[in-house]
Amino acid sequence: MTGNTYDVAVIGGGLHGLSAALHLARAGKRVVVIERAWVGRHASGATAAGVRTLNRDRGELDLSLESMEMWHGLQSLVGDNCGFNPSGQICVAESQATLDSLASRVTSLRQEGYTHEELIGPDELRRWLPALSHHCLGATLARRDGAADPHRMLRAFRQSAEAAGVVIKEQCGVTAIERRGNDWAIKATQHEWVVPVVVNAAGAWSARVAAMVGDDIPLATKSSMMMVSERLSPFIKPVVSIMGRSLSFKQSDQGTLVIGGGLQGIPDLDKESSTARMRVLAKGARAATDLFPGVRTIRIIRVWAGLEAKTDDMLPVVGASPNAPGVFHAFGFSGHGFQLVPVVGAALADLIVRGTTARRIEHLSAQRLMAPDTAKKTLTEPSS
Ligand SMILES: Cc1cc2nc3c(=O)[nH]c(=O)nc-3n(C[C@H](O)[C@H](O)[C@H](O)COP(=O)(O)OP(=O)(O)OC[C@H]3O[C@@H](n4cnc5c(N)ncnc54)[C@H](O)[C@@H]3O)c2cc1C
Repeated sequence: MTGNTYDVAVIGGGLHGLSAALHLARAGKRVVVIERAWVGRHASGATAAGVRTLNRDRGELDLSLESMEMWHGLQSLVGDNCGFNPSGQICVAESQATLDSLASRVTSLRQEGYTHEELIGPDELRRWLPALSHHCLGATLARRDGAADPHRMLRAFRQSAEAAGVVIKEQCGVTAIERRGNDWAIKATQHEWVVPVVVNAAGAWSARVAAMVGDDIPLATKSSMMMVSERLSPFIKPVVSIMGRSLSFKQSDQGTLVIGGGLQGIPDLDKESSTARMRVLAKGARAATDLFPGVRTIRIIRVWAGLEAKTDDMLPVVGASPNAPGVFHAFGFSGHGFQLVPVVGAALADLIVRGTTARRIEHLSAQRLMAPDTAKKTLTEPSS
């Protein structure tokens, strides 16, 4: 199919692509989402689905806090709460040094007017987590945080986007993007679209898509791993992490333990796959059993790894391309983009529909990562 049927082509059918498409369609744009495999095939289908403002970098904290408001109103955005369970997130300190560092973070957040993180002592910590090992000294808590069901979220965002008129093309990989007049010709397997606006939400492959329009953005790849246990009786409600160690630990509604926290497998972008590393997963299991000695003898029934782009400063790229008019980037979420899904789509829709946004994304531009000579390259003249 060729032609100007659409105002915007979104490359990538993960949650960020779907969210951008939904917000754009509701703002009156005709949108096609082009997905190489199927919706949710990569990070958005592999995610641990933690919904966390706790320990957010200041560079994305305001976005994250606004996103948290949107999470609490998700039913009105997509007709489903996406399994969001706001039972809190807790970051535990095992030593005085890590407790001091949590305390100083809370103090400096307070000085800047942020109140979403609280420091809690050992007694309150044990009220929240009765099964926790007694060596833990205290923690920070974000009460409105929690976790959700990524597959319900994918379904809800997809259905809402389609109901708003978005067309989703799966099994359709974009192989080239060329300037055509003031538009962009997007070439994919057996298809071509000509559109004025392109959103690059291609996850781990976003640098490759960016390069198609002349943006040379260095990105690394994360291959975060997860493990899931057999079902246990309910014993923990919040999501738990440890200051200074890789762990995210929660119990699902089905009773399984879902354990991750950034343990890395082996990524392969060309094969579009990643391989789990059992020795590294064993470190995560060790951290989990240090915190919750009662789970030492449980069985792990499934492990997996998912691919995602990582930036140098661990902050995402959200905003207009520095070189290619009409191209917008949303990627590099570096392992914590699930919580940002509702707000980043809305920010992109602001930029595309109104040309500006009141949301604080200026420090998330691609330029900060690019070599100075490539960041402001003049785009070659349109070919026709
Ligand atoms: C194991 C794991 C645990 C995580 N845990 C959390 C968590 O607890 N909390 C949190 O906030 N975040 C978490 N994250 C991060 C979060 O899941 C991601 O930031 C988010 O899902 C990224 O969504 P996305 O749409 O940008 O990318 P993706 O879901 O990867 O979507 C990108 C899509 O683009 C497609 N694509 C690529 N190239 C092309 C092309 N040329 N043409 C067409 N399509 C293309 C891909 O097939 C893919 O489907 C986790 C990630 C992983 C992997």
